[in-house]
Amino acid sequence: MTTADALALDAQDVLAPFRAEFAIDDPSLIYLDGNSLGRMPLRAASLLMQAAEAQWGSRLVRAWGEEWIHKPRQLGDKIAKLIGAEPGEVLVADSTSVNFYKLVATALEAKPGRTKIVTDDLNFPSDLYILQGLVRTLGGKHEISRVASPDGLTPGDIASQLDSTAALLTLSHTAFKSGYVHDMAELTAAAHAAGAFVLWDLSHSVGAMPLDVKAANADFAVGCTYKYLNGGPGAPAFLYVRKNLQEKLTSPICGWFGQDQPFDLALDYRSAPGINRFMAGTPPMLSMIAIEAGVDLLLEAGMDRIRAKSVAQTGFLISLWETHLAPLGVTLNSPRDASLRGSHVSLGHAEALRIDQALIEEMNVIPDFRYPDNIRFGVAPLYTSFVEIEEAVMRFRRVLDEGIHLKYSVEKPTVT
Ligand SMILES: *Cc1c(COP(=O)(O)O)cnc(C)c1O
Repeated sequence: MTTADALALDAQDVLAPFRAEFAIDDPSLIYLDGNSLGRMPLRAASLLMQAAEAQWGSRLVRAWGEEWIHKPRQLGDKIAKLIGAEPGEVLVADSTSVNFYKLVATALEAKPGRTKIVTDDLNFPSDLYILQGLVRTLGGKHEISRVASPDGLTPGDIASQLDSTAALLTLSHTAFKSGYVHDMAELTAAAHAAGAFVLWDLSHSVGAMPLDVKAANADFAVGCTYKYLNGGPGAPAFLYVRKNLQEKLTSPICGWFGQDQPFDLALDYRSAPGINRFMAGTPPMLSMIAIEAGVDLLLEAGMDRIRAKSVAQTGFLISLWETHLAPLGVTLNSPRDASLRGSHVSLGHAEALRIDQALIEEMNVIPDFRYPDNIRFGVAPLYTSFVEIEEAVMRFRRVLDEGIHLKYSVEKPTVT
């Protein structure tokens, strides 16, 4: 069932033409998991073919000097425009987890005598695990203060943890489960007032909303490229270090790509100037090359227009939830206030795992499940339509009306 409302919203959508930029081989598949793995831009496939044939196939090792060596910075400078950073402040390298490790370790080294790391339980678990591992390898002299959320949706009192012992505040800017968005400028200012550094994980924000690390005066940030940037499975991540900090810091992984003159192959490490010192080893060039297509599309569309559509679409989804799903016992596990919400909406149900499986297996809708009871619906304004959102809600309702989920196992699959 498609209503005139949804059709009219699509007809008025200035970003609608961007959908044709993506590989969509099954138009009836409603893909609402772009916050986990974005769709493939058609231009990414061309870039990959060209890199394989014209560069790897033909130029071989010469392509490093001609093209590849510049990619981590070139792409970093483009991503800088998405997060409000300057050229030379962003680098594409490694995974988000590894970049997070590098920046936490360097931040802690630069705050000797301070022992507290402040974070919260809305944060992405990989970040929390890395903090725990680092505390161990640094000899156990640091402590993690993990501020509890009162409701799993909104943050607890983070500011009260920021005192003269705090070395670092680190948070996911948009919470992966509820979609809650922290106030970057306010929390950064609070951490700075206490003398602590701030590291933002932008994985669930970048490409979904305008960001301004410069206006917030953020010290460090990391983020994914395979979610809203549509960079491809396992595409390398990015890291940001504010320019006036770079020369004071050393990466904890002193690999040759972060050396001043990698190809001199000197026996002692000296940091490369600027952001390059945060490279470790040889970058995964084929995966890196594919990232540019999605970033270019976002820059062409404009982050203000993307955010406006995202807010309209998540708001539309919430209004449909209220009419069709709330009466069936489905809860809203994301903020209702659009200014506090990222680009996904989590809906809760005691049978969420089985409903998620029914949607994927029989309804041709792909959201994802996050423990214990959340089904996340990710809106990617470059390719998600209003009709798809409405149709997904109606198929969700059908699953509950007809009890389709009841035949699925309560066993958890390996990947959700
Ligand atoms: C997806 C995500 C990551 C993923 O990190 P990888 O190292 O790429 O697996 C990290 N942090 C946040 C907040 C995420 O949403």
